Formats: sequence, C-alpha cells, structure tokens
Amino acid sequence: MNKTNEFNLKEHGLTVSEVHHNLPPSSLYEHAIRFEKDASIAENGALVAYSGAKTGRSPKDKRVVEHPESKNDIWWGSVNIPCDERTFQINRQRALDYLNTREQLYCFDGFAGWDPKYRIKVRVICSRPYHALFMHTMLIRPTHEELANFGRPDVVIINAGAFPANRLTTGMGSTTSIDLSLEGRELIILGTEYAGEMKKGVFTVANYFAPKRGLLSMHCSATADKNTGVSSLLFGLSGTGKTTLSADPKRHLIGDDEHVWSDDGIFNIEGGCYAKAINLTPENEPDIFQALRFGAVLENVVLDEDRMVDYSNVSITQNTRGAYPIEFIQNAKIPCLAGHPTDVIFLTCDAFGVLPPVASLSPAHAMYHFISGYTAKVAGTEMGVTEPQATFSPCFGGPFLVWHPSKYAELLAEKMRKHKARVWLVNTGWGGGGYGVGKRISLKNTRAIIDAIHDGSLAKSKTQKDPVFGFDVVTECPNVPSEILRPRESWADKSAYDTTARKLAGLFSKNFETYTKGASEEVKAAAPRA
Ligand code: ATP
Ligand code: MN
Repeated sequence: MNKTNEFNLKEHGLTVSEVHHNLPPSSLYEHAIRFEKDASIAENGALVAYSGAKTGRSPKDKRVVEHPESKNDIWWGSVNIPCDERTFQINRQRALDYLNTREQLYCFDGFAGWDPKYRIKVRVICSRPYHALFMHTMLIRPTHEELANFGRPDVVIINAGAFPANRLTTGMGSTTSIDLSLEGRELIILGTEYAGEMKKGVFTVANYFAPKRGLLSMHCSATADKNTGVSSLLFGLSGTGKTTLSADPKRHLIGDDEHVWSDDGIFNIEGGCYAKAINLTPENEPDIFQALRFGAVLENVVLDEDRMVDYSNVSITQNTRGAYPIEFIQNAKIPCLAGHPTDVIFLTCDAFGVLPPVASLSPAHAMYHFISGYTAKVAGTEMGVTEPQATFSPCFGGPFLVWHPSKYAELLAEKMRKHKARVWLVNTGWGGGGYGVGKRISLKNTRAIIDAIHDGSLAKSKTQKDPVFGFDVVTECPNVPSEILRPRESWADKSAYDTTARKLAGLFSKNFETYTKGASEEVKAAAPRA
C-alpha cells in the first residue's frame, strides 16, 4: 500500500500530493536517512532519531476542547486544561498550514486495542519518517486486508510538532500545544517532536471512550500464565518498572503500558513497547536489549565511534527510549489478549526507602493506594540536593485520565471484587535507608517477589501489619533475603526510619485531602497514621 499517488489526505485539509501511506519499516528507514537531518542506523540495526528540544512529554501544554457533549464527563483542571473551539481551530489550521508546506507527508493507519470488538481506528499524519516508524511500531499494524477496508478513522493525530504554536493565541502560554477534540476526534500536535506524545495521546482517547462503554482503561503492563492464560497487572508511574518487569521469560507478555479490562478479560491497547534505554544491559534486561534491532526506533541515544549504542550516555536526556513491535519479545502473546487478572500489583519506586518490598493490600487499602498513586523521584542533578520528591498521580496515570479518578477507581474496585483479584504493593525503589543512604532493591529480588506472587506462594506467606501504613507486610518470600522485607529492620537508624515514615504518611494524607469527600469510610480508614 505504498503507491503514493492513489492515496491523499484532502479530507483532512491536506493538499500535499506525495503522501506515503503505511510504508514498511525498511522504506521508512530510507526516508529517515535521506530526509531527517540527524537520523542514523545503529550497529544493532535500530533507527536512531532525535526529538529535538523536547525529550519528554509536555503535560502543561495539553488541552481538551470544552464542548457541550463531553463537558460534564471531563475532569477539568491541570490535567485536562479547557480550550475553546476557536483556539483549537487556530492551532489545527496552523498545523495543517505547516504540513501543507512539506513536499511529502507520512500517514500510518493502525488500530488501538487488540480486541476487535473494541478497537479504535487511528490515523497518524506527520512530516517526519521517524514519527511514522514510531507509530508503526506502537500501534497495532493492520493486515493488507484490514488496511484496504480501513474506511474512516475514529481518531486522527495531526503531528506538526516541528512547527511551533503561536504563543499569542488566546489561552496559550508556550509554543507547545497538544490539543484534543473529543467531538472532532482529532489530536493536534505543535511545538514538540517527542514521539511519546502521540502514544499517550491515543491512550488519553482510550481513557475517554473506555469508561463510556463500561470498560476500564489502565496505565499498567500485563503478563499471562503460559498454561492457564490468567493474567496479572503491573500498575505504576513512569520509571517504576512496568516495562522492565513485564519482560519476563517465564510468562507471556501481553503489553508493557496500556490495557483495558473488559467483561471478557484484558487486552493491550498497543502493538509495541516503549522501554527506557538508560543503562540498559544484556545481563539485566536481555529481552528488551535484543528487541532493539532492525525495525525498532531508538530515541535520543548517543552512538560511540563504532556506532554502538552507548546506553550509559545521558548527555541528551535521562529519558532515552527504545520502541519496538511487541512481537520482538519472544514470549509475547499475539493477539495481545488474556484472561481476567488474578493479581493486581501496584509498583512504586519509593526513594524514601519507607515502603516494604512487598505488602498485601485489602480492598480498602487497594483503593486508597490506587487513588493516591504514589511514587517518588530522586531529586534533579542540582548539587547537594538528595531529598526525594514524592509524586502522587491518581490511578497511577493522572496525566492521561479524562474522567475524574473516581470513575476509574470504581470500575477497578468492581472488577477486582468480581474476579477476586489479589492486590499487592511492590516497592522497586530504595531500602536500607532512603536515597543517598540505602540502595535500590535489585531487579533480581523484585523479580523473585513477582514470581512468588504469580506462583501463589506469596498469598500463603507470613505477613505483619505495618503500624503506620496499616497494610500487611510480607515477611517471607522464596529467593529473597528476609532481612530486606521489613523496611524498618533494614535501616541502621531506626529513629530515622520512624521520622521518615511519619513524614511520608503525612504527604499521603495531604495528597488525599481532595479525594476524602468522595471516599467511603473503609477507604478513608485505610489512610496511613502519621
Ligand atoms: P514508563 O511509564 O515511563 O514507561 P515504566 O514503569 O515502564 O515507565 P521502566 O521502563 O520499566 O518503567 O523503568 C524502570 C527502570 O528502573 C529501568 O531502567 C530498570 O532497569 C530500573 N530498575 C532498577 N531496579 C529495579 C527494580 N528493582 N525493579 C524494576 N526496575 C528497576
Ligand atoms: Mn514503560
């Protein structure tokens, strides 16, 4: 389907005659090498591309059109900044005007959602071959037949990210703008070339339509048991281990980031994975390492003189990434569907070193922690700053929610109850002390914990109630040294532990204030005691 003259984008206001439709990766490689100013092919075969000034998402520049039809559904505020129809049209026109100055455009038509009943037809229009290859990798690739019968897309992403928005347009504060019209079914991107913006744009759209159909969309990775097909979910904010821990040779990979829970089970929204590439090694993460080869996109990495990827080089950004089609992971299950989850795991990277490596959560604790969505970031690179920063993001995916968090929380509670899923909190962050004193729990130990959850042994393990957080800390786990399982015991300075635990409990309580009104008595009682 790469004959350029048969296909055009006139219905979208684009008059460029040379439109490359669903080019295969090899062609997109050639286009990237010819037309991108700095693309190259790494020795491992991946296409290396650079996103320019923006190397991460721009949540402060994401707007949603305020429209009578959807107005009352939306959780307005800093996540969903309202934008009027006129501002949207001005930005849209600017994006089209820019794209119309290009000699050639790329269009990729693909699906979001592996369950044919619920899949969304997504069209991506862009000017950079790197963006087209990225979305070829991240969406579900249609067969020739599906493409021939694609028809009208449900959602169109118009990526003019190489061109800035006009700062002076009403309601705009910067030259970056990511504007979503739910009624127009369009996402307009200006002023950022970070490819992840398109991927999370699709997720945002899914997060609107899924609950409307009684489905729960979730920011989580998922794996399934190779024999029984039952699944397990790993929720978590950025950097907590969703992608890393879901690449597990003992299990089937369903997906690394975005899923939907329906009455039939779970399905992945995407056709690819988007892994952090920082300090990637074949020893620690063999499955991801080998997936970064021909057909994969490596973003913002630095090559050495032999054109080998230097994964330790973060001179462009800490957020280096690799995108690869999901079938590049050998044990991926295609199609990416699985049975109902038996275990739901909340990952947190607690840089305070307070939370235990693993705790079992009651339904009320599960809701409390789902609504809280806690993780911590190690503070920036400023000299002398070692104090971790707590981050709370409802449903472990605040930036991508469209409805109020309670909508997703209620759906999760209902599904977990119905399918009797066990819930766990797993700290992939620090132990033995906070950042600067203790150290991050090893991937080996976290993997052993996840294994013990999956084989059912942890559900039978001994636990001990945490005096501050109230959940049941697991105190014995096969292949994990017991001394690390009780965080207070792992700290040399017990009073420092108590102070830090109370401090973290206080941060939880403060964050939860906005949600107390809608929360049940049981959930409120699951709050930590500072
Ligand atoms: P995003 O939503 O941004 O994609 P993510 O949840 O998928 O984030 P990962 O890409 O899996 O996060 O990142 C986890 C990072 O932490 C990886 O670089 C991994 O190597 C590192 N890491 C170190 N120790 C652990 C651990 N014990 N468990 C999980 N990851 C760990
Ligand atoms: Mn990830």
